[in-house]
Amino acid sequence: MKKTYSGRYFEILEKRKNLPVWVHKEEFLKTLKENQIVLLVGETGSGKTTQIPQFVLEAVLNENPSSGPKGKKWLVGCTQPRRVAAMSVSRRVAEEMDVEIGDEVGYTVRFEDCSSSKTVLKYLTDGMLLREAMADPLLGRYKVIVLDEAHERTLATDLLFGLLKQTLVSRPDLKLVVMSATLEADKFQNYFTGVPLIKVPGRLYPVEILYTREPQRDYLEAAINTVIQIHESEPPGDVLVFLTGEEEIEDTCRRIASKLGDQVNVMPLYSTLSPAMQQKIFDPTTDAVRKIVVSTNIAETSLTIDGIVYVVDPGFSKQKLYHPNTRVESLLVSPISQASADQRAGRAGRTQPGKCFRLYTEKSFKELEKQTYAEILRSNLANTVLTLKRLGVENLLHFDLIDPPAPDTLARALDDLYHLGALDDECNLTKTGEMMSEFPLDPQMAKMIIVSPQFNCSNEILSVSAMLSVPNCFIRPRGEGQKAADKAKSMFSHIDGDHLTLLNVFHAFLQHNQNQDWCYENFINYRAMKSAVNVREQLVRIMSRFQIKLCSPDFNSRDYYVNIRKALLAGYFMQVAHLERTGNYLTFRDKDDQVVHLHPSNCLEYKPEWVVYNEYVLTSRNFIRTVTYIQGEWLVDIAPDYYKPANFPNSEAKRVLQRHCKKRRLSEERSCKIF
Ligand code: ADP
Ligand code: MG
Repeated sequence: MKKTYSGRYFEILEKRKNLPVWVHKEEFLKTLKENQIVLLVGETGSGKTTQIPQFVLEAVLNENPSSGPKGKKWLVGCTQPRRVAAMSVSRRVAEEMDVEIGDEVGYTVRFEDCSSSKTVLKYLTDGMLLREAMADPLLGRYKVIVLDEAHERTLATDLLFGLLKQTLVSRPDLKLVVMSATLEADKFQNYFTGVPLIKVPGRLYPVEILYTREPQRDYLEAAINTVIQIHESEPPGDVLVFLTGEEEIEDTCRRIASKLGDQVNVMPLYSTLSPAMQQKIFDPTTDAVRKIVVSTNIAETSLTIDGIVYVVDPGFSKQKLYHPNTRVESLLVSPISQASADQRAGRAGRTQPGKCFRLYTEKSFKELEKQTYAEILRSNLANTVLTLKRLGVENLLHFDLIDPPAPDTLARALDDLYHLGALDDECNLTKTGEMMSEFPLDPQMAKMIIVSPQFNCSNEILSVSAMLSVPNCFIRPRGEGQKAADKAKSMFSHIDGDHLTLLNVFHAFLQHNQNQDWCYENFINYRAMKSAVNVREQLVRIMSRFQIKLCSPDFNSRDYYVNIRKALLAGYFMQVAHLERTGNYLTFRDKDDQVVHLHPSNCLEYKPEWVVYNEYVLTSRNFIRTVTYIQGEWLVDIAPDYYKPANFPNSEAKRVLQRHCKKRRLSEERSCKIF
């Protein structure tokens, strides 16, 4: 590392030394030296994420002057549940250590690796560490692993707990630090019995909590009014508003800006924001202008913005929910828990006494759940089971988890994987399953890619998959731009479905040499397109590792799109819906079929009898989003085992299926007869 540091380095160092964790540096390092596992619990903003990994690194470098396995450097890894946090924090730490990001300090998130052979401190998403464990179960290059934000209880972090518990036994030289905000610490202590706990008291100023007298009908309206009221009647201090998603946030930012003009500096914060914009959030405020940050849950515990004095909390966030019966996993705007509400309030009291405006009544607060349920209890577990199988976990029921999932959910997941051909009759991973687990995608998408050469269209399927893996590429501004945006979109529309429309956009982007102006003129999100190109390249690399053929049908052939639609179905055959005589779509499943509607964003010009869909969205109604027309007989051709009529309860769709089965049987018999 460098011997002389810049002035900026010393300037930041002084600030760092004021963070509460610095008081505990010696105690922490001593405890780590004497124990294999250490728990550290501290108020958000006390310096856990940015400082502790640096302390650990210092100790590792002092104790291991020579390099690690195979002459490579030892690594300290720090996991984050959110990719934005991994990127933003690692940049900050690189700056604190006076190095370039990607050199000594790096980060790895899905589809983006910014680390090198020089890297000794790596921030990565919990999902990425899980992937690394698939390739190397002993995590041989790591000397210390820090599992951060443990209180978030994401699926990947929960799995890492179980996995590392085993790994630590086989690798006595590996150490684990578990860091969490002040929630649920006793749960971790019970899970890791006898492990020392270090508590870092934060410096929290009192926060006055205000409730509304009446429940609010429109929380966006209420949030905007509250911001204006704060700005007009409260002394200086920045404002943090919690909302649920990108669109809502952008819209709210515009509305606040149009009301308050340049008296304030309004900034959005959400996961798909460009890194430069994310960094801007941390720019200190000048005296005259009030900073107003409108953020998703990211700002609840993952990122700390200094200078916030007022918090506006409507009481909602987007949460994953799963119903094992209907097998529907969806992101839903739902009420937060009391613990979340308290974390949010705490953000107002970091630098001086603050105020938190809860846009709900005190009575509603008391009715909220105490804690948010762990993600593992709210998820479709197909991917999880695939990962665990790949990690060599034989008996899933015996895998040591803090909160074991419901047996029903687990059974469903095994069932789905069996139908996808990832598991055999004895629940062992098949060759296909092994391949599927190598793709950082959901099992259905992985399956679709793997079988796409059979339909001679792996190139196209890769492009579609890439497009489905990045944020929505269509920009649709409210107000005046909306018509123009819809018109632009219609130029790409394919009458047979949204997947094909996405493919059209992708092709057009390449044809226009990935031109940014072209995107702007066509209301296409340039950054989404760039990342789709990047994602596709990475998928191609995985394809070539398994020698899966890259091929395309003849573009001029009538079957060009037919092949692609068939390949889509080969992965997503468990997600189809049938148009009933009533004019509604009904999902077609072995039980609990649901009435669904085509999402208004769809580009079909008619209502086909059968559609395959990518996503189930629950809002005021049940929507299926990103839908493409398929033919009923394909179900029987492509997934004959799954589509045995006997598996389905009586319905219109079942009768149609029976007809297709019969037709198929007849044609098979005919082809067998020689005379
Ligand atoms: P914790 O993990 O305990 O919540 P952090 O280590 O994330 O705390 O934050 C410690 C301090 O570092 C906070 O004051 C925060 O504002 C600051 N900080 C974190 N990231 C940045 C950044 N990108 N730019 C400037 N300051 C930052
Ligand atoms: Mg943190």
